[in-house]
Amino acid sequence: MSFYDVIKKYEDFNIKEYLENVSYEDVEKTINKENLNEFDFLNLISNTSLEYIEIIARKSQKLTKRYFGNTISLYAPLYISNYCTNKCTYCGFNKENKIKRKHLSYEEIEKEAKELAKTGIKHVLFLTGEAKELVSFEYIKNTLIILKKYFKSISIEIYPLKENEYRKLKNLGLDGVTIYQETYDLETYKKVHLEGQKKDYFYRLDTPERVARAGVRQIGIGALYGLSDIYKDAFFSALHAKYLMDKYIDCEISISLPRMKYSESKFKPYQKLDNKKFIQIMLAFRLYLKYIGINISTRESAEFRNNLIGLGATKYSAGSKTDVGGYTKENKSTPQFETDDKRDVNEICNAIKNRGYQPVFKDWELII
Ligand code: SF4
Repeated sequence: MSFYDVIKKYEDFNIKEYLENVSYEDVEKTINKENLNEFDFLNLISNTSLEYIEIIARKSQKLTKRYFGNTISLYAPLYISNYCTNKCTYCGFNKENKIKRKHLSYEEIEKEAKELAKTGIKHVLFLTGEAKELVSFEYIKNTLIILKKYFKSISIEIYPLKENEYRKLKNLGLDGVTIYQETYDLETYKKVHLEGQKKDYFYRLDTPERVARAGVRQIGIGALYGLSDIYKDAFFSALHAKYLMDKYIDCEISISLPRMKYSESKFKPYQKLDNKKFIQIMLAFRLYLKYIGINISTRESAEFRNNLIGLGATKYSAGSKTDVGGYTKENKSTPQFETDDKRDVNEICNAIKNRGYQPVFKDWELII
């Protein structure tokens, strides 16, 4: 069974119609439940539930505290190449875009790593575009080996790999894989992914399972809000996370809510996810999925991220640069998208402490 079998079960289910008919009584019942089902999730993201947002926020706060304490884990992205052979219409790295491209040599990766490590960051997420000739598996493997010298935890956000490739990386110390489906809507997916391996919706959808079977500890999933219907993407992201959490109990699953930002692609979002709805969806993830990690990146503003501390978020990126070579500032390239929260790692730590929470750089170590 794959997650697509779950999606198919809802083929004739009209999410919009369901949301329009959620009553106050439905929301109250959901709030008073211990274990929520998928319809409860929808009740929580409906407009009706906005009336109850403070009660829902308090419940989310309590659950977050129960499973994560007063902590926010920190990590930073490191872009190693922005060459790409794909044509994703919403992405700044799309091969058609006339941007400043850069591919780091191993020496340059080491320099970037040294610079980033000086900020205190111990968990790094390295990213690339999808240009397999240039960004080969060998290159990924060697990058991992270099980064291991400077960071305690390494995750990747790169093109989908085969199960045995994930296993090889895991054996070299890979801790996590982030792989967003971008949108769960098959028709939209086809319209925005025009060329390259990423065109294959099903291969991408099955990727988290290949990662889990390979024994990688952390898996991050999510949709890119703005590509398609936000309710549908929130619903299927939640179901996807639940499916993975139930099936792969040794894996830590986390979920993100990246919103479309300005990039060289000049893509116009299909639908806007406003702050209120963003918070509502985040709280619904917490109530439905209880101990899932919730990741909020620097796509969001400093003020907005400050306000989410304690409400449900558990992981923040910090001091992020989304251009290749961004930490050493040598021959900078065009970033994948604009970040909003420009604070450095210290400033973010202080903001977390000011809210009575503890910034965490390292929360896990392999001892055998
Ligand atoms: S989203 Fe990924 S695969 Fe698509 S154009 Fe951007 S970097 Fe390439």
